Amino acid sequence: MKPHEKTPADFDVVIVGGGIVGLSLACELAATDFSVAVVERNELKAVTEPPDCRVSAINRFALQQFKQAGVWRSPLVQRACIFDKMFVWDQTGAGQIQFDSVELGLSELGVIIENYILQHMLLEMVTAAENISCFCPEEITSIDYRPKAAGQSVSTVKLSSGLQLSAALLVGADGANSKIREIASIQRSQQPYRQFGLVCNVATAESHQNTAWQCFMPTGPLAFLPLYNGWSSIVWTLDDDSAQSCMAMNDEEFKRVLAEESQYQLGEITDLSQRYLFPLAHGHATEYVRPGLALIGDAAHSIHPLAGQGANLGIADAAALADVICTARTAGRQWSALHTLSKYQRKRKGANRVMEMSMTGFKELFGQDNAFVSELRNAGLSLVDHLPAVKYRIIRQALGA
Ligand SMILES: Cc1cc2nc3c(=O)[nH]c(=O)nc-3n(C[C@H](O)[C@H](O)[C@H](O)COP(=O)(O)OP(=O)(O)OC[C@H]3O[C@@H](n4cnc5c(N)ncnc54)[C@H](O)[C@@H]3O)c2cc1C
Repeated sequence: MKPHEKTPADFDVVIVGGGIVGLSLACELAATDFSVAVVERNELKAVTEPPDCRVSAINRFALQQFKQAGVWRSPLVQRACIFDKMFVWDQTGAGQIQFDSVELGLSELGVIIENYILQHMLLEMVTAAENISCFCPEEITSIDYRPKAAGQSVSTVKLSSGLQLSAALLVGADGANSKIREIASIQRSQQPYRQFGLVCNVATAESHQNTAWQCFMPTGPLAFLPLYNGWSSIVWTLDDDSAQSCMAMNDEEFKRVLAEESQYQLGEITDLSQRYLFPLAHGHATEYVRPGLALIGDAAHSIHPLAGQGANLGIADAAALADVICTARTAGRQWSALHTLSKYQRKRKGANRVMEMSMTGFKELFGQDNAFVSELRNAGLSLVDHLPAVKYRIIRQALGA
């Protein structure tokens, strides 16, 4: 990201964090009459082959937002892999469920895309927008946030380059360890799962068939997500000991264990990238807003990655916040005041909390190796598979409807 040449010091909105969620908000505000700054500490790595290991399953809601904003016109769209089916099964029994876009009358269920590629695509839109300035790489040295209970607040953000930005609305899109959340003294419940997500890309003997595969095992879920080059991205939830032992295995051993654990759903594992571990936790901010300040994405909430919803929730936050402030401004109301921002919180907090609790519930349910629970779980999965109305409700939730 390069600083905009016409950069002013005073902005309507300063977004701290140029991850997927921060850039999604900037994109939503492109071509509006808001002046917007994005501050990001890390330079985005250049586009390279082969695919990166950090990928996201982007649901239909988010995809529609990106298509409407023009993000999907980027040539980088070829790095996105459409998935039109999902197949979920229980490793310990006969339970399984599948979702097919054709049955739902949809062209696809979503896409799998590398996180940094999506950031590049969003950035293309953002840097082309006249009303947005990007400051990257830039560290924040201090933030002066003085909320005024009623009416508008103005924050000042000082950057390591010496630049000083003022903002009527300061947005924390700065991830789970949000500094903006901290300066606003917003508490966050934080619960580690004592688990890791092992992430890597694999080539398999059988085609991924544009299907997102998810196997639930007592240790945690294992997902195979289809990639544009025929490989699959795996996200395998493991407890500490299993994660460390998987990391210590040589490639041949790991390929064999992975194929066995996935019950050869895609055949042998024929090739493998480097493996990475991410500690998993869930947490939720007690509030998303203060006068002249809002939190979006992981800064507000983080959830278990088992259903691939974290980034999707953040993208929905960005869309809701943009909608609320644009509507208020058009109506001539105080768009950065607490009474306006509370509307954003009302729109998103309940939905995000439900998703967080569902993911924790799923993790607990599938983490039980008690024979009775396992039997019930397997029967439940197969039953839902034969109940189109229930199945449709579940998939609508996952697609972000
Ligand atoms: C293993 C794994 C798999 C996942 N799979 C999926 C999936 O399939 N689908 C899905 O929807 N979600 C998935 N998620 C969740 C998803 O990755 C996150 O929810 C999402 O990336 C959060 O985006 P964000 O922009 O809010 O935060 P982040 O990605 O954390 O971005 C925050 C940005 O802010 C910047 N920043 C932080 N502090 C500062 C500062 N002081 N100054 C300037 N910049 C700053 C950071 O450099 C960063 O670029 C997964 C998560 C994990 C761990």
